Amino acid sequence: MFMTSIAGSLPKPGWLAESQKLWPQWKQQGQALQQAKADATLLWIKAQEDAGLDIIGDGEQARQHFVHGFLEQVDGIDFDNKVKMGIRNNRYDAMVPQVIGPLRLKGRVHAMEAQLLRAHTQRKTKFTLPGPMTIVDTVADRFYGEGKVGRVKMAMAFAELLNQEALALQADGIDIIQFDEPAFNVYMEDAADWGVQALERAAQGLTCTTAVHICYGYGIQANVDWKNTLGQEWRQYEKVFPALAKSRIHQVSLECWHSHVPMDLMALLAGKDVLVGVIDVAIEAVETPQEVADTIGRALQFVRKEHLFACTNCGMAPMGRETAQAKLKALVAGAALARERLAQH
Ligand code: ZN
Repeated sequence: MFMTSIAGSLPKPGWLAESQKLWPQWKQQGQALQQAKADATLLWIKAQEDAGLDIIGDGEQARQHFVHGFLEQVDGIDFDNKVKMGIRNNRYDAMVPQVIGPLRLKGRVHAMEAQLLRAHTQRKTKFTLPGPMTIVDTVADRFYGEGKVGRVKMAMAFAELLNQEALALQADGIDIIQFDEPAFNVYMEDAADWGVQALERAAQGLTCTTAVHICYGYGIQANVDWKNTLGQEWRQYEKVFPALAKSRIHQVSLECWHSHVPMDLMALLAGKDVLVGVIDVAIEAVETPQEVADTIGRALQFVRKEHLFACTNCGMAPMGRETAQAKLKALVAGAALARERLAQH
């Protein structure tokens, strides 16, 4: 009950990459960079175990960014000529690579981290990949063409590549494969119309547990400003959850603590595992176990206890390392307290 895990990313140590940035520059090159990525992955596997998490991830130490880390291994993408593009419905600008031809994987994308993860923990493992719709929103297209037809075609092409890597991750022994789809919360109609379909294509044939993470973004200023425009009730999930409830995806990771998401929307996910965000990744203040247990207690009104998992709201990549470590401990302590409270009932 209330198994704990993180959404995905963790801060990169200062010797690996620039700190507290969403697109950090690497501090090493060539073989030294590969070694540093592996070292950082091992370090965070140990830190997650020490904190007491039930499900362990690689902390996304080997990718510069959760979307571009995947795109670097895709043929048909021009990484040398990045262009400035407004992403997430123009919420903020990013320098993005361009799709210029048919898409094909150059080879394995995450074999190194996945195999390290599997070899160095006895606990359950989770591995994250970007979802097809979010990829489409984080790359410039010069090949598939304008409009919905082009976007859907490109999403399905990426979904096929994601599926290849996901099947390989499963063969590496990963227990849970999660696709990150923050774009679902931005383009709700498209998400329900074709986003979930593309997601299912990406998960096709997987026999391990599958998950989707949908959030309101990393704790960067542009996202904090955007959230301030969303009003007192954030009902974005309402439009996507029914489509997800009908899908074959097993788990949904969502943002909760410190958000204005009405708790009752979780009831739309009946039958699914719900990974409730009980840790805010946009503030430095560390949650108390009581706060975490209270959030779990409120979610229990709408999610059956055997389906409720405790998680972070989003990735912690842009945070300070000490803060992230303290929040991992708060997550575990809060879930333990929630179990205790339930046992006393
Ligand atoms: Zn997120």
